[in-house]
Amino acid sequence: MNNFKGIHIKEHKNNKEISLHNEVLDFLDPEYVYVPLVEQGGTFTPFVKQGDKVKLGQEIALKSGRFPIASHAPISGEVVSIDIKKWHSSGKMVPCIQIKNDFLETAVDTIKPNNVDELSSEEMVNKIKDCGIVGLGGSGFPTYAKYNPNNKIDTLIINAVECEPYISDDYIKVRDNLDDIVVACKYILKITNAKVAYIVVKKTKKELIDIINKKLDLIDNIKLFLVNDVYPSGWEKYLVKKIVKKNYQILPCEVGAVVNNVSTVLAIKDAIEKNIPLISKTLTLTGNGIVNPRNVHVKVGTLISDIIRKNGGYIDYEKLYFIAGGPLTGKSLISDEMVVNRSLTSVVILEVVDREINMECMGCGKCATVCPVNLTPVFINTAFKMKNKEQLDKLAANKCIACGLCSYICPSRIDLTVNVLKAKEYMAKR
Ligand code: SF4
Ligand code: SF4
Repeated sequence: MNNFKGIHIKEHKNNKEISLHNEVLDFLDPEYVYVPLVEQGGTFTPFVKQGDKVKLGQEIALKSGRFPIASHAPISGEVVSIDIKKWHSSGKMVPCIQIKNDFLETAVDTIKPNNVDELSSEEMVNKIKDCGIVGLGGSGFPTYAKYNPNNKIDTLIINAVECEPYISDDYIKVRDNLDDIVVACKYILKITNAKVAYIVVKKTKKELIDIINKKLDLIDNIKLFLVNDVYPSGWEKYLVKKIVKKNYQILPCEVGAVVNNVSTVLAIKDAIEKNIPLISKTLTLTGNGIVNPRNVHVKVGTLISDIIRKNGGYIDYEKLYFIAGGPLTGKSLISDEMVVNRSLTSVVILEVVDREINMECMGCGKCATVCPVNLTPVFINTAFKMKNKEQLDKLAANKCIACGLCSYICPSRIDLTVNVLKAKEYMAKR
């Protein structure tokens, strides 16, 4: 990447503030959960059938492929369906395993404390794999795959930048769980043999900076790293370039780095210390459409409609819409019958405001100026509409990282990101 400086999104601060100071709501006993059978575009094969009794933490499905990963029952109870469809953060309806809660919390007997000092690096990685830990910053990528012993890793980067507007989950994690984050860092330093870990937050987060500085004062190999309050400063390539001073092509390990989101490292700690699978998570539930914007701690597979009901309900607007993920990279949905999948970071609920969209391009060039990977979205948009394959090849739409900046900046409100992504998909199919 070039020396991309990012864009400061003006409304950032206030959007985050609306959920930041409210107490986290625990909602860990839903009547039903719907465990999605799709993750990162791959599908899971269920191990269970309708009528089966399952224990909390039991493996119930497996996604095969290059990096196989299991999915676990978030509650104990009875399987009601293995193919019921629910809305999902991919913007599509996906099949799910529906489990009815027996409210007994009967857990698998593998969930118990480990003697961590006796675990080898390999055993730790196996626990991360067996517990189904995936990237919680939104990627859903199987975490164990980052710890290939053949990679020479020097630097561990703990990403707590959370550069999308509205989301405040990582902020709260660092503020409230720093001791656990430091312990988890030590495990990952052992696994990767990295010499140093950096916890990365924005320069503007004074409260976090003070907390981290106080904690890390006497720790040599875990440091604080600050980035500007710009978007997308939490983008993996941006962080690696800033910290390691090198570019990579596909994975950070090419330049000796591993990047983990801060929520992921907390899940890693639970897996290593107690074999706890990824069956619950926190996410930010926010926006002007609900009564109590806040972070919520819920079981994977809980319906957003159930969480909102538990959390005080909606503001009485005529029309609302839902964004699964952040406003710049998330998917818009019109239904709250959406499941919490493992990598869902937030749901933003907003009033629908009529505004003029898709006016004519005024040729301002802003979309090209902001693109962090130097694309020209306006030209890709045109080439895609004309299905000009040769031009699309030249314009390299396949490099789009779906950051959403071109749509955000466009004064004509043209939905460039969607069209660039369609062009990318079109090229991939070819
Ligand atoms: S969404 Fe894609 S094309 Fe648009 S600015 Fe981001 S990387 Fe560039
Ligand atoms: S930002 Fe919008 S108006 Fe400006 S060149 Fe790009 S598409 Fe056209």
